[in-house]
Amino acid sequence: MNQVVLYIIAAMILGILLLPITVETRSEEGSVFIGEGPTWIELSVEGLSKLTYETLVIYFEPSSERLAEETAQAAHQALQLASDTLGIAPAPLSLALFPRENFGDISVLSFKIEKGIWPLFITHSWQNLQDSDLDFQDGLYWTIPHEAIEGVIAPLFYHDWRHGWPSRWIGDGLSAYAGYVVTKEYTSKVANMRLYDYKQKITRLLEKGKVKYDLVRDFVGSDELQLAGYGVALAFWLGIAQRYGEKTIREFWNRVSSFSKKWCIALGLICFGGINAREAARILSELTGEDIWTKLQNMNLREVLQTLEAAAGGLNP
Ligand SMILES: [Zn+2]
Repeated sequence: MNQVVLYIIAAMILGILLLPITVETRSEEGSVFIGEGPTWIELSVEGLSKLTYETLVIYFEPSSERLAEETAQAAHQALQLASDTLGIAPAPLSLALFPRENFGDISVLSFKIEKGIWPLFITHSWQNLQDSDLDFQDGLYWTIPHEAIEGVIAPLFYHDWRHGWPSRWIGDGLSAYAGYVVTKEYTSKVANMRLYDYKQKITRLLEKGKVKYDLVRDFVGSDELQLAGYGVALAFWLGIAQRYGEKTIREFWNRVSSFSKKWCIALGLICFGGINAREAARILSELTGEDIWTKLQNMNLREVLQTLEAAAGGLNP
């Protein structure tokens, strides 16, 4: 018996003893880091007041209590609408309201998140939700539904990372659709802003001569090709909803969510259960009669642009 075989056997024994792995941990404490790295500024929720409302936890300064309460109710309504539309019960989410005054004139160019707390940036002068700006509303009505929906889809599909995350048309696609549905209802300005941004990114690809987008392979990495994927995936689901109705999305989720999560033993050598992007595409093909797997890999960017334009056109600016 050579060493490699011995190693595999040892790994399997160890794996069987230690696993199955639990995937998610949630904690009551955490930080958000803002800036551009490597000099991140830490914003901690330590010492903030905490409010729990249904599946949401919100951290806030005592002076922002009214805003926090209204935010909790609005976020709950937003998640309810996303859930009713897609048939996906949202994942629990923690948010923190951070006053911009607390970090001076540093612009929040980007942030990273620890322990799953999402930041919403406010100012001390806001008394209630009506005072908030577009950036805050974008976070509340687009990002929060997006993350709460993706938080449910991710554990089922995002084990596929070794193959370049071919499931993002489901995770980020349905999450973008959730953001669209919610903003269309509550703040069409944000919906239009998002659609405009997506159209810009796709137009740039078209200008560079890219006319087809492969949602299975191109929606990966961190460059502009990947960033355009959100708009393409949104257009994909807008098309499904237009042609077959949102009930088809609910039926799709009903079927794919009946699969168990993938779980592995022996350091990932032996796996059970789970569903991958291709099987999910086959299920959607059964529901629509279209060859979804082929369609995903050949998204026509001019048609995508038209779909996003039509979606924006149906909204008041
Ligand atoms: Zn996402």
